[in-house]
Amino acid sequence: MDQIPVVSYARISADIRRDEHGVQDQHKLNRETAARLGWTVVHEYTDNDKSAAKAEVVRDDFEAMLKALRAGELLHGTAVQGVVIVAEDRLARRPGDYERFAEAITYQDGRVFADARGAKDLYNEDAESMGLFGAVISKMEVRKMQRRMRRSHRTRAEQGKPVGGTRPFGWMPDRLALDPVEAPLLRQAILDVISGRSLHSITMQWQRDGVTTSLGNLWSMRSLKLAVMNPRVCGWREINGELVRGPDGNPVVGTWEAIVAPEQWMAVKSHFDARKGHYVDRHGGVGPILPLDFREPNYLLTGTVRCGRPKADGSLCNTSLRVSHTKDCVQHIYLCPAKSAGGCGGLGRRGDMVDLYISEAVLAKLEEVQVSASSDQTVWAKQGEYDGAKARLETLRTQWALGNVSNELFFPAAADLEKQIARLRTEAQGFAASVQRQRSRSNADVSEIRRRWFLAEEDGGLPLTVKRTYIREALHAVIIHPCGGGRKKFNPDLLEPIWRED
Ligand SMILES: [Zn+2]
Repeated sequence: MDQIPVVSYARISADIRRDEHGVQDQHKLNRETAARLGWTVVHEYTDNDKSAAKAEVVRDDFEAMLKALRAGELLHGTAVQGVVIVAEDRLARRPGDYERFAEAITYQDGRVFADARGAKDLYNEDAESMGLFGAVISKMEVRKMQRRMRRSHRTRAEQGKPVGGTRPFGWMPDRLALDPVEAPLLRQAILDVISGRSLHSITMQWQRDGVTTSLGNLWSMRSLKLAVMNPRVCGWREINGELVRGPDGNPVVGTWEAIVAPEQWMAVKSHFDARKGHYVDRHGGVGPILPLDFREPNYLLTGTVRCGRPKADGSLCNTSLRVSHTKDCVQHIYLCPAKSAGGCGGLGRRGDMVDLYISEAVLAKLEEVQVSASSDQTVWAKQGEYDGAKARLETLRTQWALGNVSNELFFPAAADLEKQIARLRTEAQGFAASVQRQRSRSNADVSEIRRRWFLAEEDGGLPLTVKRTYIREALHAVIIHPCGGGRKKFNPDLLEPIWRED
C-alpha cells in the first residue's frame, strides 16, 4: 500500500516553553507520528525565529510549506498531501498564519493533518474537535465551498457534461419552470412529511397512482427521500451535502421556481436529521437504531395502549399491549404479553372498540385545540440571544484581526461562541419546523381530518401513519383498566387517556 506523503514542520521560538523539544526532536516526533499513521515524511521544514520575535519576521520555511501545500507538491515535483507538527502552537506566530495555513492545506481535497496526539480531520464539520484550529477552520467554510465549486465545475468541464444531470422531478425540461403535474405532488409530499406521514406511505400511494420519476421509474422510499430533501425545492442548492452560500453566508437563491418555502424545506431536513442513525420509537421518542423496529405498525394504538391491571403491590402493570387475533373474532385484540415476555398476561380488550373510542377522543381534542389555535407562537423566544451571540463573535473577530485581542483570548472565546451559536441554530431550526407543523395542522381543517379518519386509505382516507402521529401528539398513553373476568359489554370508562400538556 502506498504511504501518504507529508511534510514535517518544526519551529523554535522565544514564546515556546524551554522544556519543549528542539527542532530536531520535533522532526523526530513528527516522523514517528507519521509512521504510526501510515504516512511518510518527504520533506522537513524548519524555522528558527527565536531571535526575531518581531511581527514582521518572515518565516522562510513556513512560507515555502504553504506554497508546497497549495501546489500539492514540492519544488522538484514530489507529491505532498499533508502536514505533521508536534503541536498547534508551532504553527501560528501571527493571527494571519492560521488562516493562511488552513487555506493552503485545505486548498485541495484529501489532505491530512496530525500533531503528536494523532490525526485531525480537516474536513470534519465538528470544529470543536479541532481545538485551537477549529475557529479558523470554521472561518474557512466559505473558502471550502469555493474549493468544492471549483472542483465540481472542473469535473463537469472534464466530462464534457452540461450543467445538471437528469431532469429534476417537479420541473419542466428547462429546469426553471414548474411542471404543472409533478410540482403539486412533490409539494403535497413535503407537507405530508412535515405533518408526520411516513415516506413509506407516500411511496406506496405514488406507486398505486402510477407516479414515476423523471426517468420513468417507480418511486422508492430512497428516491422520494432524496427528492423531498433536495434544497432545490425551496430554490437553494447543495453541493456535496452542503448548501451553496454567497459571501454574506446566506444560501444562494437559484433562478428556478421554488416548490415550497425555505422554512418548509428546513422542517423536512430537521425531520430527517433528527432521525439520522435513530428510529422513532412507538412513543414518539427518538431511540438508538434497532433495525427490526423500522417496520410500520399495522394498528392504530400499538405503543400507545398500556396494561392497567394492578400488580400484587398495587402498582399498575403498565406494559405496552400487543396485538393478537383469536379464531372466533375477526377484530384484533390488544393483549398484555405473557409474564415470560415482560407483561402480566392478564388483560385484553377488543381492538376495534378501543380504536374507535380513542379516535373520537383525539378528534374531539383536535377540535377543541383548533378553537384556541389563534394564539400560535411564531416568534422564536431566543432570536435575540442568537443575534447577540453572532454579533459578539463578529466583533471579537474584527478586534482580533485588528490585533486588539490576543490569540490566547480570541481562540477559546471564539470557540465558546461558535458552540453557543451552533446550539442556538439547531434550536432555531427545530422551532421553525414546529411552527410549520402547527401551521399545517391548523390549515388542515379538523372536520376534513374527521371525515378522512374513518375512510379507507384507498378512498382518500388518512394513512395510518398520519393518524398515529395525531394520536402520539395528543396522548402519552392510554391505560386500559381491567373489567373483571368473563366476557363483558365493552365499557369505554375503563379507557384512561393520558393527554400531553400543551
Ligand atoms: Zn399487564
